[in-house]
Amino acid sequence: MADIIQLLPDHVANQIAAGEVVQRPASVVKELLENAIDADATTIKLIIKDAGKTLVQVIDDGKGMSVTDARLSFERHATSKIRSAEDLFHLHTKGFRGEALASIAAIAHVELKTKQEYDDVGSAIVIEGSTITSQEVVVTPKGTSVSVKNLFFNIPARRNFLKSNAVELRHVIDEFHRVTLSHPNINFVFYNNGSETFNLPRSNFRQRIVNIFGSKTNEKLVPVEEETEVLVISGFVGKPEFAKKTRGEQFFFVNDRYIKSPYLNHAISSAYEGLLKTGNHPSYFLKLTVDPQTIDINIHPTKTEIKFDDEHTLYALLRSAVKHSLGQFNIAPVLDFERDANLDTPYHFSKKETSTPIIEVDRSFNPFKENYSAGKQTTAFKKQTLNNWDSLYVGLESKGTQTEHNFSEVHFESEETTISAFSDENKIDQIQTTYQLHNKYIVSTIKSGMLLIDQHRAHQRILYEDFLKNMTIKEGMSQQLLFPLELHFSSQEIEIINQLKEDLEHTGFVFSKVSKECVEITGVPVAVPESEVSIILEQLISDVENEVPDSNFSATDLLAKSMAKSLAIKRGQLLQKNEQEHLVNKLFACKEPNVSPTNRATFITMSVDELDKKFI
Ligand code: ADP
Ligand code: MG
Repeated sequence: MADIIQLLPDHVANQIAAGEVVQRPASVVKELLENAIDADATTIKLIIKDAGKTLVQVIDDGKGMSVTDARLSFERHATSKIRSAEDLFHLHTKGFRGEALASIAAIAHVELKTKQEYDDVGSAIVIEGSTITSQEVVVTPKGTSVSVKNLFFNIPARRNFLKSNAVELRHVIDEFHRVTLSHPNINFVFYNNGSETFNLPRSNFRQRIVNIFGSKTNEKLVPVEEETEVLVISGFVGKPEFAKKTRGEQFFFVNDRYIKSPYLNHAISSAYEGLLKTGNHPSYFLKLTVDPQTIDINIHPTKTEIKFDDEHTLYALLRSAVKHSLGQFNIAPVLDFERDANLDTPYHFSKKETSTPIIEVDRSFNPFKENYSAGKQTTAFKKQTLNNWDSLYVGLESKGTQTEHNFSEVHFESEETTISAFSDENKIDQIQTTYQLHNKYIVSTIKSGMLLIDQHRAHQRILYEDFLKNMTIKEGMSQQLLFPLELHFSSQEIEIINQLKEDLEHTGFVFSKVSKECVEITGVPVAVPESEVSIILEQLISDVENEVPDSNFSATDLLAKSMAKSLAIKRGQLLQKNEQEHLVNKLFACKEPNVSPTNRATFITMSVDELDKKFI
């Protein structure tokens, strides 16, 4: 048989390599920024259009390239950074594989302009899909400018695979954060669609963090410093009370390179043990310096994963360093403030035995009961003023706007509601009784057999439809806060809030001020407890950042989903009989009771036949 093996042409090999190095515009941003850093630039400008899909340009004032180097830089495995495999273990540069420019040029239109300091003129190269279309001598300032246009122009499948601009921009910004945090001594400027989004002056690490994430971050940081023979740790961890539901600001840098390490991340979380509410994640910005010989960076083309020689020791050191800092921080208030003698135990009390304080718990407290917020102690007040309360609602026809808290008001609506998903025999004819299983599921009988409802998903569906309705009819009822609530966000987060502001207002939010880094809220939807507001907004922002689907994105829908997710009763929450019944009734009064807002089943049924079979 004839020989069948052939060498792939260069441009094909480059395209294949590009598959590993360039996944999205953010990958181009990373590679170009890193090249500029390796060229010892002091100021680096990043310019993007359409989240980098149309243009990613990086301009630096670094050392530039000679005419020959400019041409060679686009060859695969062409690098000035290492000469032998040995050098891999003494790396002081970001790049070393010599394939970024070759890969990028294989899948985009690239223009390079570069000049070395003492040359009179520089060179300009245009290269498209690995083919050089022009190379000229040009007048250009010292340094290098690389423009990457129309990413994946020759691979439509990969272009189509790109996410919406909002999502791609998020990735670009994430990458920008990682690179700029690891090099605070370089001035970075970022222009997005013509407007300056970041201008980060040369600074120290702490100032860089604050410049990126907003001035409010400063007070959240606890310094971590540790020096041992194998490892130097420096940086900051976030105070436990500022931990977030989303894993946002978590950064490890090893020898000034951002890396991902679930293992080391675990070391940090374990240092926070007992200090965080479940489901909350701490923020951290930690720089580890190790001997380059003890790590292998070359295990992944994007160089974001690293193999350490002695991971266990690093884990232990990191955990104890963070723990130590958090411990110090916990006693910090005592050290920080002058002691107030008035707060000392009075002398005649100081030797007395302490007695356990008695806590009175209102066992009949039921958040779903009518006017639950008034609580027990205020019942008298409530009675007196009930008429006034009623008058507040006069003219508002939509009872639904009071959402599910008025559980007892609605009785077995499901009898009248026709539910498309329910065949006649599945229909709830009458809820005889409900039973809560493991504080998670509600069991009830139906004509044909048994109904098992997931309480969390069911409540999400109910809230989702409520919010959606309020937003559509623009009539979400608002409760005024006694004191305005001031919440701090980064500038990108504020941008998202601005986009959603109108919809948020329709649900009942009242914003008295939205400035560069902070919002002031004076009213919230009736269904939303004040203590939940920041969590809801945080969740919402992260949902917008991470889950925006490519097409048919509706801010209203996302908002309703996100709020329903945050506010729905959780699994593990005990529900009283009337709450269970009410939940069931409200669910089957929904338009689409059988799925949660994210399209998961809210309940399952099991017929008597099926049950019978199980007992054969
Ligand atoms: P690597 O960074 O792994 O060496 P690249 O493909 O990213 O590979 O770049 C190839 C070479 O081109 C680099 O080694 C460097 O010599 C040169 N180069 C790339 N970008 C710049 C820049 N901004 N300034 C100066 N030289 C650069
Ligand atoms: Mg490089």
